[in-house]
Amino acid sequence: MLDYVGLEADLDQEERMIRDTAREFVDENVAPDIGTHFENGTFPEELVTEMGELGFYAPNLDGYGLPGVSETAYGLLMQELEAGDSGIRSMASVQGALVMYPIHAFGSEEQKERWLPDLASGETVGCFGLTEPEHGSNPAGMETRAEKDGGEYVLSGSKTWITNSPIADVAVVWARDTSAEESPVRGFLVETDKDGVSTNKIDEKLSMRASVTGEIGLSNVRVPESAVLPGVEGMKGPLSCLTQARYGITWGAIGAARDCFETARDYATDREQFDKPIASFQLQQGKLAEMATEITTAQLLSHRLADLKERGDLRPQQVSMAKYNNVSMARDQARVAREMLGGNGITTDYSPMRHLANMETVYTYEGTHDIHSLILGQDLTGFSAFN
Ligand code: FAD
Repeated sequence: MLDYVGLEADLDQEERMIRDTAREFVDENVAPDIGTHFENGTFPEELVTEMGELGFYAPNLDGYGLPGVSETAYGLLMQELEAGDSGIRSMASVQGALVMYPIHAFGSEEQKERWLPDLASGETVGCFGLTEPEHGSNPAGMETRAEKDGGEYVLSGSKTWITNSPIADVAVVWARDTSAEESPVRGFLVETDKDGVSTNKIDEKLSMRASVTGEIGLSNVRVPESAVLPGVEGMKGPLSCLTQARYGITWGAIGAARDCFETARDYATDREQFDKPIASFQLQQGKLAEMATEITTAQLLSHRLADLKERGDLRPQQVSMAKYNNVSMARDQARVAREMLGGNGITTDYSPMRHLANMETVYTYEGTHDIHSLILGQDLTGFSAFN
């Protein structure tokens, strides 16, 4: 596997073990059928508990049975899962960074004990409801409301483009608490079998086809006060979750790009035209050289982020830079790999076109490429281009 500057040498035993476990899992359980799942628009649900058994959900958190592995180990895990498919990595990202993380960081003791072990094992599936039909890049404009009524909250509104919502048991729903002054955004743990909750599936996707995506409709849904995440108020809540997930995405995108590179290199070595392997032609070598260089640069960025995160110095803007760079890199390189495979490259028999299609989602979710460039622009100039 591509490791041009020998990053492997800096990994400790646990990091190698987690990476190898994930790689083996992908080789045995994801790679054989993922093309068919992508074609059929189905998610391999049987892998949910298997990933739980292997400890793939939020292993970088600790307590409540979670092992607290290094941020490098967590990143390598995301990298290997996305080498399989972005849909598989999305499952683990949402469950770990967008559902378990907010409960771990902002939940009550009772919420942590109730939810974290079952989410870790995959017995319970979670989803994260922030985006709304009219509020994507600007989630602060959200219209979903929570109104206090005695010892309960009544939630109304709708969320869309929610990964896993049709298969989720619990949703972390971000809503404006209209009973408090200035209606701050708060997080609510909403069980999806409650009266008034609907989770319609979104079909017709041409990207991220091996992942379940849906809506969350909330029609006067009553939840007890104990369902509110007590430890956070305001957009800081959802945004801090996104920073966690985006960190994993910076690694995941490298996995997708690496799989494209390995596929293109193998193909170019085997495929002969004009009585020679196409890998012997300068144009094809130039493409592989560019791909390997771009992937290596992205690897260095994510490894540096892991060090900063480990010592508590990672800023969200630095994560934005890596999401901006690495996903765009993976999207570009997937297209080059696809092109190197000629006609075969447009089929599900090979991974690049599937990764390329997936990267359209990864480029858009968790803050679009444009939005990350504006975050960087604000950080670099002091001027916000948002308002
Ligand atoms: P818009 O915000 O309408 O943007 C449209 C275009 O305008 C984009 O190109 C954008 O970059 C550009 N734009 C917007 N504002 C500006 C500006 N100020 N300056 C310049 N350009 C701008 N959301 C969740 O909450 N939970 C999930 O689990 C989840 N999973 C998803 C899974 C999939 C498969 C997809 C496709 C999306 C998912 N999302 C999820 C939603 C995702 O985060 C949003 O799609 C994303 O934030 C963009 O919002 P939007 O689609 O409404 O696009």
